[in-house]
Amino acid sequence: MPEPLADPEPGTHGGDADAEYAAVSAAFTAVADDLMQRGTKAGGAAQEVLEAAAMMAQDPSLADDVKERINAGTTGERAVFEAFVTFQDLLTGMGGYMAERATDLGDVSQRIIARLRGVAAPGIPESDEPFILVARDLAPADTALLDLAKVLALITRDGGPTSHTAILARSKSIPAIVGVVNALTIKEGTQVLADASIGVITIEPGRELLEDARARIASRAAALSAPITDGALADGTKIPLLANLGNPADAADAVALGAEGVGLFRTEFLFLDSKSAPTVADQQKKYTELLRHFAGKKVVVRALDAGADKPLSFLNDAHEENPALGLRGLRALRASEHILHDQLVALAAADAETEAELWVMAPMVSDSEESEYFVNLGRELGLTTVGVMAEVPSLALVADQVFDSADFVSIGTNDLTQYTMAADRMLGSVASFQDPWHPAVLRLVKMLGDAGAAVGKPVGICGEAAADPELAIVLVGLGATSLSMTPAALADVRAALRDVTLDQAKARAARALAARSAAGARAAAAGPVLD
Ligand code: PEP
Ligand code: MG
Repeated sequence: MPEPLADPEPGTHGGDADAEYAAVSAAFTAVADDLMQRGTKAGGAAQEVLEAAAMMAQDPSLADDVKERINAGTTGERAVFEAFVTFQDLLTGMGGYMAERATDLGDVSQRIIARLRGVAAPGIPESDEPFILVARDLAPADTALLDLAKVLALITRDGGPTSHTAILARSKSIPAIVGVVNALTIKEGTQVLADASIGVITIEPGRELLEDARARIASRAAALSAPITDGALADGTKIPLLANLGNPADAADAVALGAEGVGLFRTEFLFLDSKSAPTVADQQKKYTELLRHFAGKKVVVRALDAGADKPLSFLNDAHEENPALGLRGLRALRASEHILHDQLVALAAADAETEAELWVMAPMVSDSEESEYFVNLGRELGLTTVGVMAEVPSLALVADQVFDSADFVSIGTNDLTQYTMAADRMLGSVASFQDPWHPAVLRLVKMLGDAGAAVGKPVGICGEAAADPELAIVLVGLGATSLSMTPAALADVRAALRDVTLDQAKARAARALAARSAAGARAAAAGPVLD
């Protein structure tokens, strides 16, 4: 894919600041219009991303900054470049979710500069043949419009698992491997096998590997076209397959893909841009909208999870050296109890208005005292089913005590892996430690599964691990009673579960638990053909 445009050199314009700014302003408008049009064409999640990019191109504070620079003599191109870099640096400094939005800003800046130069904006090359796209990073505007018939997979050098490239690719079911350090050394025309399920790229694979890959692709196509049924194992054991959602607007698509309910509704995604805590009325409206899609079905809503990569300034805007270990999740809610109180009141009111079966859970819970606090408060405020997330290893270690109060536990494998392995989930340099297949993580899942089974209470999984079909089987073998995932993964997981009995899942789990590394567990679970 073409490299980005060269940075404009520092320089001064001819002296007519008004004319210089008029040209820049026209370029801002044209780029915003173009992004909006692309959004309308793409629809769905892509539209939201592109409209957000269009808003960036209309941001008055950026325009003011550019104007000031032009008034001081800087050329239009350079003023745009400098203003965007300043803003990008600000976002990057904030880390996590905000830092990943910096890429989007870079793309908008490139589009404006291309427009000023009268050249085409950098983007995806045209090709008649299907291809794997290798790029430094991919702008949301490009990812959104990827031609599914042409782009077989994406490999990028930059970007983390929660970058927009990864989010959009996942929502379009395009296999994407992001953060591949030496991606740009792959030469155009090379034959490449990209297995996004395990994040492995093979250059010039031999015939055997290719045949194996073709067989797997064919079985996946069969899975996708299979009729949608409820999640179940080969022996009939029911394993409800639920959706992870962050916006009521995505509920209809999840239902169409066979979600039997919602296993994780990330309420903080609704309020990431809010400067002040949302009102009860505003929240009630949004939760009601969500619940209406799931009459008679389970919907697990998580209380606001402010944290390292998802800062909510109204909950905690203190600077912390280690935000992942800081005042986040339930800790932050407890420190601002009125906000938690309002949210639970809004949820109880939405529950009363609708027919869904509402379950509510707290994020980042460390022990039974915190669990008891949350469950008691939830019940006092009118909720009937109240539980906690297992994301901190300490919770798994005292799981029996936690079940004295919690009606259910939902395991967030993303954070549980981060904290068990002490590897920041946003940091590419420790990505190899962030593998939920690690036996240490699996052993904690088993402790939780056993504790739930002992008292007959549900233990769901709602981290990304549930979307890996092979790992999903192991998680069920460890005691998971439901699996929640990005809706695009439902078909693959549904098909994988149908192939094994509960006894076979348990046998795979036992082999994985005994392994000595994540890779070892993956290989051991696949194990002998006869389980
Ligand atoms: C998790 O940690 O696994 C989880 C589901 O929560 P989030 O990804 O929102 O932190
Ligand atoms: Mg989490």
